[in-house]
Amino acid sequence: MAYLELKNLNKIYPNGFHAVHNFNLEIEQGEFIVFVGSSGCGKSTTLRMIAGLEEISDGEFLINGKRANELNPRQREVAMVFQSYALYPQMTVYDNLAFSLTLEGVDEDVIEEKVNRTAAILGLTEYLDRLPRALSGGQRQRVAVGRAIIRKVGIFLMDEPLSNLDAKQRVTMRSEITQIHKEIGATTIYVTHDQTEAMTMADRIVVMKEGYIQQVGTPHELYFNPTNVFVAGFIGEPPMNFVKGTVEDGKIAFGDQKIDLKSQFADKVSGYEGKEIVFGFRPEAIALGEEENAYHIRCNVELTEMLGDNTNVYITNGDQQAILKVDPHDTPDVDSEITFSIPFKSVYLFDSETENRI
Ligand code: ADP
Ligand code: MG
Repeated sequence: MAYLELKNLNKIYPNGFHAVHNFNLEIEQGEFIVFVGSSGCGKSTTLRMIAGLEEISDGEFLINGKRANELNPRQREVAMVFQSYALYPQMTVYDNLAFSLTLEGVDEDVIEEKVNRTAAILGLTEYLDRLPRALSGGQRQRVAVGRAIIRKVGIFLMDEPLSNLDAKQRVTMRSEITQIHKEIGATTIYVTHDQTEAMTMADRIVVMKEGYIQQVGTPHELYFNPTNVFVAGFIGEPPMNFVKGTVEDGKIAFGDQKIDLKSQFADKVSGYEGKEIVFGFRPEAIALGEEENAYHIRCNVELTEMLGDNTNVYITNGDQQAILKVDPHDTPDVDSEITFSIPFKSVYLFDSETENRI
């Protein structure tokens, strides 16, 4: 039995909008789960149903095997950090951290010990006497996280907690939150629209789209084994390249060339003769030149972006476009013609209609 069980959860808002459909998931104690997807896909709604802040329209939520649908947030022993983390502006960092414990009537000595320990974990010790307005965005965010972790709860919920921070602070806080999770070990569900956050922080990722789960898996599974076009395109940066083409004699066109699918994927494409298929490959999976065990593609270089550790090369052939990620030392000239290799093992084929992996 898993620690948390979400069985066929549905959310239909009072206005009739069906925001979450048949959400099924089992979460083990201590796991770090990330819900990821574009804005509006139902991440916060699902999290709020778990928190007890939003009624579950249909389905069952179990904690330790016991139905929890009717429990309030405190009974569920959850703590939550929101995107707009409201600290009490007139209270010091110490009092902000102590607040929930004070409400619970915990002894002053115990509170002091817990505040000091939480502050130490979060690097806030020297700021305990400050008011929130005298802190940076990152420090305020740490206080918000501290307020949640100071109470001993079983479930730790975070809804886009880093989205008000600048890029650099986000990277720092990302590893800090991972570190804190290692230290306190609480089961954590973390919501973000940022695939990088999901990939770097999660034990397992739940990819959502329009209220439906698309795939659940480890970062490794989602990257190497995406189940459909959406997941393949969502995980990875720049996203996977997709070439659409009609299969003719086992081949699809890439501009003025043919990719001979039947040479490697006869079993997969045999039923697709005359039908459209999606051919996917990741920008970073290619090699320049003609490698063995790979498709060789000729193309024109439209634009290059040197990013330091790599260069993004925007290529075209006919009306097909793609991005290649190459070593900056190998950056090709704009307007030149190059040939690159797509290893057979790095090819992903999808049904054009269902968008599912073939
Ligand atoms: P996310 O957190 O993934 O951005 P939400 O869970 O906030 O998405 O919202 C999912 C969908 O439900 C959106 O289309 C949103 O407009 C809708 N929604 C959210 N709250 C309500 C509400 N109180 N009433 C009706 N629709 C809502
Ligand atoms: Mg949200």
